[in-house]
Order: sequence, then structure tokens, then C-alpha cells
Amino acid sequence: MIRPLSIRLRLSLWFFLIFAVAMFTLSATCLWMVHRCILTIETTELQQRVRSIQRFLEAQPPDEPIGTLRENMVSTYDVTHGSKWLQVIGQDGDWIYRSKAITELYPHLALPSAVPADGTYFEFSAESVPVWALIKPITVKGRSYTVQTGTSLNSKLIVYNDFRRQLMILTPTVLLIALLGGWWMSRQALNPVAAIELEARHINDKSLNWRLPVLETRDELANLTQTLNQMLDRIEAGYKSVREFTANAAHELRSPISLVRAEAEVALAFPRTADQYKEVCERIQAESVRMSTLIDNLLSLARADAKADVLQFEALDPNKLVKELGGKWTMLMEQHGISFEGEPDAAGVSVFGDLPSLRRLLTILLDNACKYTPAGGHVVLRTHLKDDAVVFSVSDTGIGIAAEALPSVFKRFYRATNSSPIAPGGAGLGLALAEALAERHGTTIQVQSTQLQGSCFSFSLPRYAAIHNVKKIVQREAV
Ligand code: ADP
Repeated sequence: MIRPLSIRLRLSLWFFLIFAVAMFTLSATCLWMVHRCILTIETTELQQRVRSIQRFLEAQPPDEPIGTLRENMVSTYDVTHGSKWLQVIGQDGDWIYRSKAITELYPHLALPSAVPADGTYFEFSAESVPVWALIKPITVKGRSYTVQTGTSLNSKLIVYNDFRRQLMILTPTVLLIALLGGWWMSRQALNPVAAIELEARHINDKSLNWRLPVLETRDELANLTQTLNQMLDRIEAGYKSVREFTANAAHELRSPISLVRAEAEVALAFPRTADQYKEVCERIQAESVRMSTLIDNLLSLARADAKADVLQFEALDPNKLVKELGGKWTMLMEQHGISFEGEPDAAGVSVFGDLPSLRRLLTILLDNACKYTPAGGHVVLRTHLKDDAVVFSVSDTGIGIAAEALPSVFKRFYRATNSSPIAPGGAGLGLALAEALAERHGTTIQVQSTQLQGSCFSFSLPRYAAIHNVKKIVQREAV
């Protein structure tokens, strides 16, 4: 397989190619222009000669016999034009003038009636001397003549050929300089890329804090390095959070497993009464429940992160959901001495969501309200309309959250109330999962809380009628 050319080589070759085309075009145009200039000058000279003949003939008496005319012309023109290419013929075929130089080369000359009125220009060679010639008819005092004259291009062509020779030496020299220049330029431009490549080789899962060199050039490469470094920041943060998550999960699972093991070992060490065995079994069962809840939450979070669950979005009645959950939670709250109220205040509207996810989200919030509200407290689950959205809220009169802990409550494994005597065993995953579920519905959870007074967690979903929002959710889910 042919190895692809390096960018450096490709850039140099492209530069060379474009430069070569430009150089050749320029050289060819220059040569053409010089040649055209030479011909224009010589054409003017020939036209002047024809005009001079015309003036000469006009100066002759009207009925001058041909013989006298010929003699007059010979005596005048032989001195100045004897060695040049010049001949004049009358309308009846009588020669008026013939210079020696042309007689042998052009024994015949067309009569005025056979020559185009504008004349004919052509090039011929006289003893290897290039000659630029003109044959033109003129009319003087009612008589027509054909004038043929020519001028040597020799001296001009020497200049022209010299110019061409120099161009032929200059063009390859300039091209060689362009090739070397292109190579040097691409080297200069790509040197930082080589430096970036070298640094990037050092980056692996053990050295994710390594960053690419920041270029001071403020060009595209500097921007690229900056973007790559930002990407590395994000990868490092993601990697760190996965590591923390795994460590926390292992830590959270280790305690209940140790506890179960210790309970079983102690129970097996000595013979016990049936009641004692029952107690041990109850404790083991409680720990198992805690473990399975934890594992369940971990799995749910992982699935939410990976968007592994396909959500079934449909139009839902928010009030119906409040009533359904209200029925279940009134009883549970009562068992903890908490009064519960469901306030379905969003009648006649629907929201677009996935029923099991919304049920789970609200269950997490209600579970927290129940956990963190002492007996005698009050919890309300409410839905109400605000603008074009339905707001779901769970408020309680519980222990509340300290202002400094509020920004962290949605973090995984974060527990603000660990030191509180009321805090039952949780793993700090509930709100993280609730937030992930809310995010998949295109919304976020808001929290307002005052320590020792209570908290209110809420989120809003667009009304089903606000169809453009629905489209957005469906598109986002499809990504
Ligand atoms: P868990 O309840 O298992 O500890 P969560 O993620 O559900 O984990 O909650 C994180 C923390 O937020 C809790 O430890 C608690 O300190 C605080 N929190 C959540 N809901 C409430 C609430 N209704 N009242 C007071 N604190 C709360």
C-alpha cells in the first residue's frame, strides 16, 4: 500500500505547483506582450513608410508620365530606402519603384484592385533575417498603387530572445526558491503540531492532569490547543467523578456487607434462643433491604447516565398522579406521625412525560420529606398551573437544609444530615437520581429550604398543548 504523503510534503508540493503555474503564466504573458510590442512598433514604422510614399506621389504633377514618376522616385528613395524592402506598382502593372533588396525576393506584386483595402501584414525570412512586411493599396489623384514594404525584426528579436533566455533561467531558479521556501514555511507552521503530538503522547489514564503546551501565537493552533485542553479538563473531571462514584459505591456497600457478616458470625458462635435468632434475622433483613435499595439506586443512576432506559413519553394527567401517590403516602406518613396532604390544583391540563419516571421522581422527594420531617410535621404534594407549565412540588415542615449545604444536595453520595439524629440511613443517591430523571424530562429541580423550618422541592413540566416544547423533548431523547 502506498504511504500517504505527510501534510508538510503536501503543503510544499501544493505551494510549488501553484507557484509554478503562476510563474509559467506570468512568463508566457510577458513574452507574448514583448512580442506584441515589437510588432506594434514595426507596424507603425511600415504604416509611416506607406504614408511617406503617398505624400511623395501627391507632391508630383497630376499628369506626370510613369517614366518620369519612376525616375523621381528612384532618385529620392534609392538614397534613403535603397537597402530596405520597398516596391511600388501602378494600377496598370507598371513598376514605379523597386529597391534592390526586394527585387529578387518578390518579383511579383499584386495590383491595387487585388489587395484588401486595409492591407496585409505578414512575416517572411530574407536570407535568414526575419522581416515584418505590409502590402497596402493607396490612391493618389485618381490613380491606384500597391505599396509593399518590410522592416527587419532582427535587432528586436535579439532583445526578445535574450529576454526569453533570461526568463528560462530565472523561472526555474525562482521555482526552486519557492520549493525550498514552501518546505521551510510548512515546517515552521507544523512545528507546533509536532510539539503538541509529543506532549499528547504522555497523556494516559494515569496522567490525565497533563496538559498540552499553551501556544502564545493566538492563531488557529493556539485555539485548537486550548480546546483540546478544555476537553482534557472535562475528561479528567468525568474520570474523577467515575472514580469517586466507584469508591463511594464500594464504601457504601462494604458497611452493610460487614454488618451482615458480623451478625451471622456472632449468631453462629454460640447457641441462641429463637427470639435472639429472630432479632439477628431481622437486622440482616434490614441491612439487605438497605443494600438492595442502594444497588437499585446505583443501577438506576448508571442507566440514567447512559440513557439506557427508553422513556415512553405520553400525555399524563398531573392531578391523577398526585391522587395516586397521595393514597399511598398518606398511610406511610401516618405511620411516622406526619400529616400528609395531596393538592391536585392543575385540573384540565396534561403534561408530556414518562409515567414510571415521574412516579419515581416524586417518590424520592416524598421519601425524603418523610425521612427528614419529625413526627407531628406536615408534608404537601401539590400540582398547580404557572404560565404554560405545571409545577409539581413537595414541601415539608422538616429539619430543612443549611444554606451552605443546599448547592451540594444533588451531588452523588452527598448527605447533609449525616450528623442529625433524625437522619435515617440513606446513601445520598436519591436526589442525584431525581435530578437525572428531571433532566430527561427537560427540566431541573428547584429547592428552597430553611433550617429547622422545612424544605420545598419543585419542578415544572410544560403543558402538553405547548407542542414546541414536546418536540424539543422528543428530539433530545432521540440524540
Ligand atoms: P439520602 O436521603 O439518601 O441521604 P438524597 O440524595 O435523597 O440522599 O438527599 C441528599 C441530602 O439532602 C440528604 O442527605 C439530606 O441531607 C438532604 N435532604 C434531601 N431532602 C431533604 C428534605 N426534604 N429535608 C431536609 N433535607 C433533605
